Amino acid sequence: MTSSSLPTHARVVIVGGGMAGLSCAAALAKRGVSDVVLLEARTLAHAGASSYGETRMFREMYSDPVLCRLAQEANRLWREEESQAGEQLRETHGLLFYGESWDEETIEGSIPGARRVMDDQGIPYEALNAEQIADRFPLKPKADFTGLFEPTAGAVRSDKVVAHWIRSARNAGHQLIEHTSVQQLDADGGGVTLENGHHIAADQLVVACGIWSQLLLAPLGLAPKLEVWPMLWAHYTVDPALADRYPQWFCFQQERGDDGGLYYGFPVLSTTSDGRPRIKCGIDWAPKDLRVAEPNAMVSEPPARLVELLDTFLFNELEGVQERVETVISPYSMTSDVNFVLDRITPQLSLFCGGSGQSFKFAPLIGDSLARLACGEQPGVNLSCWSHKRPAVRA
Ligand SMILES: Cc1cc2nc3c(=O)[nH]c(=O)nc-3n(C[C@H](O)[C@H](O)[C@H](O)COP(=O)(O)OP(=O)(O)OC[C@H]3O[C@@H](n4cnc5c(N)ncnc54)[C@H](O)[C@@H]3O)c2cc1C
Repeated sequence: MTSSSLPTHARVVIVGGGMAGLSCAAALAKRGVSDVVLLEARTLAHAGASSYGETRMFREMYSDPVLCRLAQEANRLWREEESQAGEQLRETHGLLFYGESWDEETIEGSIPGARRVMDDQGIPYEALNAEQIADRFPLKPKADFTGLFEPTAGAVRSDKVVAHWIRSARNAGHQLIEHTSVQQLDADGGGVTLENGHHIAADQLVVACGIWSQLLLAPLGLAPKLEVWPMLWAHYTVDPALADRYPQWFCFQQERGDDGGLYYGFPVLSTTSDGRPRIKCGIDWAPKDLRVAEPNAMVSEPPARLVELLDTFLFNELEGVQERVETVISPYSMTSDVNFVLDRITPQLSLFCGGSGQSFKFAPLIGDSLARLACGEQPGVNLSCWSHKRPAVRA
C-alpha cells in the first residue's frame, strides 16, 4: 500500500496480526465498532510468529485455579464464536496428561496440581494408571506413570479460526494491512509512525506484537520483562492401522540433563500431501542458552540436538510413528511467571503479550477484553492476574 492510500486516522489501530490482534479486530466487529485499522509487518498469522499452524490445545485441566476458571469462561465464548461463525472451530476429543507425578509445577502445570483443581471445581476427568493408558492408546508409559484424561478438552483449529476472524473483520469494513511495519508508537499512545514515515493517529491503540512488543514499548519506558523461547514442533507420519487411536497428550517428566522432559502431541487431524496420516508433536521447553531477550536474535533453524530429543521420544515412547515430515521453530513470548500481559497501560494504549504456550485457548476472552479496553470499558471478567503492573513483568 502506498503512503497516499494509507489512512491518517482510525478509531482503533491494532498493531500485530496474530491471534491477539485478529481476535481483537473480530471482537470489535462483533461490537459494531467500525473505523478499525490492523497493521501487520509481514502477513497475518505468518510462520515466523507464534500463531502459525493448524492446531492449538484447549483444556480446563490447569493447576492454577484462576486459569482454570478463565479457561471455562473462554470455552463459553468459544461456543458463542462457533455459533456466530456457523462452523465448528474446535475438535473435542479429550486430552491425556500422563507421566511422572511429582509435586512441582512446570510451565504447563502438573498432574497432582491439575487433579486438585479439577476436584475443587468439579471438572470431569478419568484417572488412569500406566496399564490402562497402554491398553487404550498407542503409548508406552513407564510403569510408574499416572494419567488424567479430560474428555471435554481438545484442539482449537487455529487455521480455521484465523480465517474466521479475518472474514469477520473484513466484513465489518476493517482494514487489515499486511507488509506494513510500525516503527514507533506516539509517547501517549495516540498514534503510530510506520517505517516509511507515514503517521496514523488513533483514538485507541492496541499493541499485540507477540515477541516483538518490547521493541515498540521500550522507547516509551513501558516494556514488560519478556524472554523469547524457540520452540520445536514437527509432523510425523504414523501407521494407518493406528491412526484413529492417538490421543491428544501431554507427557510430564522431570528434567534430565539436556532433556527438559515435557513433550506433547495431537491425534491425527491431517494428512501429508500424498495422503499419509500425520500427528503434530513438540517439546515444551527451551534450553537456557537458546532463550533470548532480543526477539530478532532467536534461532530460526531447528537445533539438531532438540530435533534428536524429539525424535528419540516419539520413536521410543509411541507406537507406529514412521517418519518426521515437517520440522518448525516457533517462538514463545514468556514472562517469568508464565502468565500473560493484558492491560491498559496508558489511557489510549492497551497491550497483549507474553502468550507463552498457552494463550490461544483464551483467544475469544483476549479479543473481547482488548476490544472492551479499546472502547473505554473494563474486561468482562477480573483479569488482574494478567496485569502489566505485577512484579513478574516489571523490567
Ligand atoms: C509452538 C507453539 C505451540 C503452542 N501451543 C498452544 C496450545 O496448544 N494451546 C494454547 O492455548 N496456546 C498455544 N500456544 C500459544 C499461542 O499460540 C500464542 O501465545 C499466541 O498465538 C500468541 O499470539 P500473539 O498474537 O500474541 O503473537 P503472534 O502470533 O506472534 O503475533 C504478533 C504479530 O505482530 C506482528 N508484529 C510485530 N511487530 C510489529 C510491528 N512493529 N508492526 C506491525 N506488526 C508487527 C508480527 O509480525 C506478528 O504477526 C502455542 C504457541 C507456540 C509457538
